[in-house]
Formats: sequence, C-alpha cells, structure tokens
Amino acid sequence: MEEKGAENGVAAMAAIWQGVDPAAYLQNTYTPPLADLERKDNLLPWVLACLHRAFTEGDVSGELLVDIGSGPTLYQVMSGCEVFNKVFLTDFLEVNRKELRSWLQDEGGCSMDWTPYLQHVCKLEGRQPSAWTEKAAKLRQVIMDIVPIDVHRPQPVALDVLPSAGADCLVSCYCLESASPDLAAFTRALGNIGRLLRPGGHLLLIGTLGMSYYSPGVKIPTVPVNEAQVCASLKESGYTLIRLEVYTLPEYMKVSHHDAYGIFFVKAIKE
Ligand code: SAM
Repeated sequence: MEEKGAENGVAAMAAIWQGVDPAAYLQNTYTPPLADLERKDNLLPWVLACLHRAFTEGDVSGELLVDIGSGPTLYQVMSGCEVFNKVFLTDFLEVNRKELRSWLQDEGGCSMDWTPYLQHVCKLEGRQPSAWTEKAAKLRQVIMDIVPIDVHRPQPVALDVLPSAGADCLVSCYCLESASPDLAAFTRALGNIGRLLRPGGHLLLIGTLGMSYYSPGVKIPTVPVNEAQVCASLKESGYTLIRLEVYTLPEYMKVSHHDAYGIFFVKAIKE
C-alpha cells in the first residue's frame, strides 16, 4: 500500500514535468534576477565558483563525468569538461535532450546563448574571456552522448549506455528535489544515482533549500529539504560528505515563482 503511494507520487511528478517547456524554463531560471553574471552577490557566480573550485582542487579526476538531470542547461559541465575526457549528459525529458543536441550540433535553433557563461568560466580559470570558443569546442568534443534518465528507477540509465566500471564523478544540479515528491523519494534517488558512480568517485550536488514549489511555466510541487536532511540522506545513501556550502538567497532573488530560502552545494564521495 505504502509502495503504491510512493509510485503514485513519483508518477504525478513525472506527469507535471512533461508540461515544462525548455525555453520557458531557461527564461524563468537563467535570466535576471535569478541568474545575473553581472552581480557579484548573485547565485549564478556562486554556483560557477563552487563547481570551478570542486573540479580544480585535484581530488576529482578520472575519465568519465555524468551529469544527472541536465535539463536544457550546460553551465554545470563547463568546468568539468577540462578534467574529464568523457562527459554524458542525461535528462528525463526528450525536449530537454533535443535542446542540448541542438547546441552540441551547433546548427542554430538553441533557446539559450551560453557565451557569457563560457566566458565567465574561462575567467575563473585565469584565461581571457575570448578563450570561450576553445571551451565551447572542448565541451562539444568531450560530450559523448545525451541520454534518457529516471532517477526514481534502481537502474536510472539503460544498461550498457555507460561503461560498467561506473562514472568517476557525478554532477547534478536542482534535479533530485525538484523531481521527488517527498524526502524518502529524494533519498532513494540519491541511492539510485549512486549506482552509476564507482566506489571512491565524487558526487557534486547542487539543490534548493526549503523550496515547496517552483513555476517555470507550470507549477511544480517540490520537496523542501534543509541542510540536516541533505546530510542525513547522503549518509543513508552511502556517501561520505566532504563539505556542504550554503548560499542564502538575497531578498531581490526571492521572486514569486519559487519559495526557496537558499541553495546548497555538496561535495561527497561514494563509500
Ligand atoms: N540541471 C538543470 C539545471 O541546473 O537547470 C535542470 C534542473 S531542473 C530544475 C530539473 C530537471 O530534472 C529537469 O530537467 C527535469 O526534466 C529533470 N527530471 C524530472 N524528473 C526526473 C526524473 N524522474 N529523473 C531524472 N530527471 C528528472
């Protein structure tokens, strides 16, 4: 009975996500005030700096990086593409995978211009912003595939898509809490994606804190998690926390289409 309820909750979330349009999502989430590369106190420079630091500290290495729930976005792999020779992007929705494929194929028709993001990450790496064309080429070179995923399945990606040894690193931004109906599903999803990661591999997880809904066009009920719950879920799902950092949303970012109070960044290792 309890199992059926959990399945219904997950199915309801899946149905809501089917109605989300990538262009509306990008417009709502990756334009000011939520995303503003010009403001030092904005979330986006914080996120890009967290990822840059995590990928350049020296402990994250290997061949294969997998991004979980990529959506229609690429910023989350702009630092990692300099460390890993193989990057897989994943998403639940074909419309998002199509958006990513159109950037990868560089034939126009993308809803988003990622140039300012590429330039910003080049600056973090101590390069000239003009090096963004090289970074874009590098990204296109290392992205091996863009594949379907369902974090609620014990085997989230189809068998044989990823090398059997598992990924050396997973990155995932704003996916688990916005795809899970409750904390139990969030924790199970953390365990499910962990099966894609080799023991000793790293998880870089970014998510919202205290968010009960988000409306990128349609209203999505999300599971509000706090710092203690994230730490407990990680432990229960077989990860050792290296660090958790929190960004508290400034008043100007508390807009009507979400009710989060902050964002967490986690660096963890699979036991
Ligand atoms: N990572 C992107 C970003 O940073 O903007 C997208 C985050 S968006 C808030 C959440 C993503 O989770 C969406 O792209 C959605 O399609 C995906 N998603 C929804 N349900 C999912 C599921 N069951 N398994 C995997 N991904 C799912």
